[in-house]
Amino acid sequence: MRPLTVIGNWKMNGSIAGNAIWIEAVCSEMEKGMPAGRRYGVCPPYPFLAQCGGLIQSCSLAPLSLGAQDVSAEQLGPFTGEVSAAMLSEFGCTYVLVGHSERRDRYNESDQLVAEKALQVLDHGMTPIICVGETADERNSGRAVEVVRGQVAKQVAILQDRLADSLIAYEPVWAIGTGKVASAQIAQDMHREIRLQLAEFDADVASHVGILYGGSVKPDNAVELFAMPDIDGGLIGGASLDPQEFLAICRA
Ligand code: PEP
Repeated sequence: MRPLTVIGNWKMNGSIAGNAIWIEAVCSEMEKGMPAGRRYGVCPPYPFLAQCGGLIQSCSLAPLSLGAQDVSAEQLGPFTGEVSAAMLSEFGCTYVLVGHSERRDRYNESDQLVAEKALQVLDHGMTPIICVGETADERNSGRAVEVVRGQVAKQVAILQDRLADSLIAYEPVWAIGTGKVASAQIAQDMHREIRLQLAEFDADVASHVGILYGGSVKPDNAVELFAMPDIDGGLIGGASLDPQEFLAICRA
């Protein structure tokens, strides 16, 4: 049985004062009790990891984990501006996003680089959340499955059975930050496709890997999405900035 996982991605948002209010609001509600068998995480920008990690640790009963939004594919050395997996691990991260479409698009991250980043995350005992997804043009030209299969294929080729310790996030680029959520059926169809592709490699890996949906998830569409058999939770951008919306999605 795959646990439902809900991860908030704050992107380049947050402030020292605002983060404290968010963590206090979410943790105090979570400490009152959350649905069993679920996992929750939040990915603040790098400079806030220490603050948010400390605040989360101090509410030890809240089932909330810390995550990061990216990582270097390098281990250490002359890579100005980069942050290594070892550092993220020292800061108490459980999850690390790799290959978010904003990084693939704006920083030209390739499938090869995304897989190398995921390996770094795995080597340091954390869980990579490997993001894949097609653009609007790719979907409109009937190439959505081909594109996503290509992205997944590279991860399978490089990570092999280490994929069993990873999460995949299907995030159609046309749904990210646009308010145009994929219908539950469109999302389920792609999640099924990804699971079938993983099963071509290894049935056991396929049945273990959580596949999250991301793209304009809100409290009012989360219930239907999360009810789908191959949707194992969500990666939440905009709606995770509001603690009450994030909590409502966590309970969906
Ligand atoms: C994201 O950036 O991962 C995301 C899913 O964003 P949003 O929820 O705002 O569409």
